[in-house]
Amino acid sequence: MRKYFPPAEKKVFSVSTYLMDCVFCGKRAPSKFLSLCVDCAKSEKALVIAEKLHQRKGGNVKACKLCANECKGLALCGKPIYGNLIYYEDPLPTNCCNAWFCEGSRLSGTNLAVFYYGCNFDCVFCQNWSHKNVNRRFVSLEELLSVIEKRRIRCICHFGGSPEPQLPFALKFSRKALEKRSDLMICWEWNGAGNTSLALKAAELSSKSNGTVKFDLKAWNENLHVLLTGRNPERVRKNFEIIGEKFPEVLSATTLLVPYYVDEKEVEEIASFIASVNENIPYSLLVFHPDYLLRDLPITPREQVFNCFKTAKKFLKNVNIGNLHLLGL
Ligand code: SF4
Ligand code: SF4
Ligand code: SF4
Ligand SMILES: [Zn+2]
Repeated sequence: MRKYFPPAEKKVFSVSTYLMDCVFCGKRAPSKFLSLCVDCAKSEKALVIAEKLHQRKGGNVKACKLCANECKGLALCGKPIYGNLIYYEDPLPTNCCNAWFCEGSRLSGTNLAVFYYGCNFDCVFCQNWSHKNVNRRFVSLEELLSVIEKRRIRCICHFGGSPEPQLPFALKFSRKALEKRSDLMICWEWNGAGNTSLALKAAELSSKSNGTVKFDLKAWNENLHVLLTGRNPERVRKNFEIIGEKFPEVLSATTLLVPYYVDEKEVEEIASFIASVNENIPYSLLVFHPDYLLRDLPITPREQVFNCFKTAKKFLKNVNIGNLHLLGL
């Protein structure tokens, strides 16, 4: 995922790796917080722990279909409120996850980063978890449209949190922005669990504007996915396939290499899935650093990173490693 603000300086993380026994089988659990060994984290037993980790909280909605959660009553994203966002300009090339191949990174000028508060997922490793706590701030469509009149802005990155709960607003802004400035590129960095027809409209805008749509494919094993994110991956994959049928040229994907848990087997399945859509889709493996609730794991071990890279290369033509600086490289 794209980091909220571009890191001005490298952070030094004091990491202590707690080792403990898995609460189910007694084998070694890499994370005290998760309290599961890798095997149990991929088994149905993980759902018991997931239930405890992902407390349900948020405002109320009658019936919302803006994303795969399809809430009735409690809003799992906190409650979608259009315009609840912050924006800033970032000189190109930026820290977008797609910066390693995208068109915008070859241009001079700036990127308009639009960070949407709220998210329909609940990842325990969220690097942008401030989206949960920030006082709500509202930006009007008019204000955003006046910003993109600056000719130095070359592309718009919708990210967050996640744009899914605010997609109708984001789509309206993007359409009007392209009416004003047909030279802009429209890009999305999301978890991919949005309403399918809205997600397709977003992808169409990216296709027309030479932009990108980046999915975060967080784990292949469904139990592990629920453990780490609080949500099932089914709709994410469906959306990826559906966009891949119509607009394969916009797609890309990332996977955060959570130490020990998101291992070669996970990457093998994910890379094979991406290749079944199109083997040219760019895929970036992101080195993990401790954040939010998952602070008792280290930076992804080098061996895991390079083994996952080799595995992904067996299936896909364009594979990258992101956050290499965390490995001191
Ligand atoms: S917004 Fe799109 S084109 Fe611009 S830097 Fe990010 S990924 Fe590249
Ligand atoms: S999808 Fe997960 S990692 Fe990304 S912003 Fe939402 S909670 Fe955080
Ligand atoms: S956007 Fe998604 S998570 Fe938020 S209320 Fe609607 S269905 Fe629920
Ligand atoms: Zn176990």
